[in-house]
Amino acid sequence: MLISDEEYMLLSANGGFHLERNKTLISDYEKCPCGSGKLYGICCEIKDFEWLKDDKGTIYKNVKLSDETMNGLKVVKEQFKETFGRDPKGEDKLFYSVAIKQFNFLNDFIRICREAGVEERYLYAYYCTGLLVTEENKERISDREYDEWEEAVFEFENLTNEGSIDNRINIVQAILLVEEGLTIFLEKAFEQLELGLSKFILDSKNAQVLEVDSFQVCDHKSFIEYCLYKIIKNMDSVSLLISNGHKENALAVVRFLYDIYLNIFVYISDYKLFEEKILPLIGLELGTHVRVNGSKHKIEELATEKKTYTKVSIIELAKQAGKQNPTAMKMYDSLFSELSGYVHVSVLMSDKYFSENDPYYELNEELLAGLLAVFFAYLPLYEIIKLDHVTLELKRDILFLANRLTEQIRRFLVTLKGIEENPVFDLMEEMLNYYEKTAS
Ligand SMILES: [Zn+2]
Repeated sequence: MLISDEEYMLLSANGGFHLERNKTLISDYEKCPCGSGKLYGICCEIKDFEWLKDDKGTIYKNVKLSDETMNGLKVVKEQFKETFGRDPKGEDKLFYSVAIKQFNFLNDFIRICREAGVEERYLYAYYCTGLLVTEENKERISDREYDEWEEAVFEFENLTNEGSIDNRINIVQAILLVEEGLTIFLEKAFEQLELGLSKFILDSKNAQVLEVDSFQVCDHKSFIEYCLYKIIKNMDSVSLLISNGHKENALAVVRFLYDIYLNIFVYISDYKLFEEKILPLIGLELGTHVRVNGSKHKIEELATEKKTYTKVSIIELAKQAGKQNPTAMKMYDSLFSELSGYVHVSVLMSDKYFSENDPYYELNEELLAGLLAVFFAYLPLYEIIKLDHVTLELKRDILFLANRLTEQIRRFLVTLKGIEENPVFDLMEEMLNYYEKTAS
């Protein structure tokens, strides 16, 4: 039987579709490749797909595609032609980029279906069998595949109902519960933090009207406000990145948030550092300071010819903060060894980078990135209330917000630690204890 390019696409064993010819139909008297044990003639033959065999005896399943899919394929084929100047042929795959990005496909697909309202038990069955069975495509799979799919649906139902029998939750239940809880928590927490930080900036600001896009840092106080404004901006990015499934980028923003937290921590506890490193930069704009020739970070005060080095690295800040809060330095080590693996792929981290995480037995790393973002965005609340100019009412409002978030984060940490070991969870707890001690 001859298969036309337009009508049939075959899924090759190594992933990625390509066009294929010269395969023959299985005979009615051969054992059905679906594994039912029956002869093909009385098994899959009546279904809406075909089993084919090539010269080497490799078995292929041939499914006719819908018009919609065919149109999509035509577009991809055109793209190939435009890029390489020829039609795809032979072993060429049409979905090269999909094949390369495969390690993200499973989770992305599940996330998109979840958003579209596909029931969780079906997603679980998809995860187990690779099939998403609907009324429309039911005829395109073998009875055996259908049985496996149904079994997976039942398995999910059993897994999620088990707890009611012996009162203990299993790992699938725990992860689903935590993820659902985290999703709701993050949405609320981002909103509330944005409100809280904005209130602080506006309530504590000097008489001048706040032009958020042209923030003028002219003193210690406005520097803190500028930092808080950056937190709000970064939180927006994190929430966007998380909802689009960009875990690596979200984690990179988490590092910025930690950086900002350290800035606030250090400048509140050590004004001298601000005076030495930040004020000269402001002097550049005011014209009282100039950049020393050939150096990006050396600045000279015109009046006194005094030269200062203005660069403050995160590690310096972490060391400085660590003098009062030892967790700050440990957190730095943990974040910058763990998280940098996602951004700058190092050999040591490559395993983790390329491994597909398991959506039913592992915590969703995007949600964890969100939790970390909330964590580093809210810790500064405990710092800013130490400022002299904060009114009692503002202090009360900010503390209320901070304490409630602490309570909620603590609850998540207890559950998370029960599911997964992760040094960052312990450090988060340590950090909370530090603030509990210093606040009382
Ligand atoms: Zn069969």
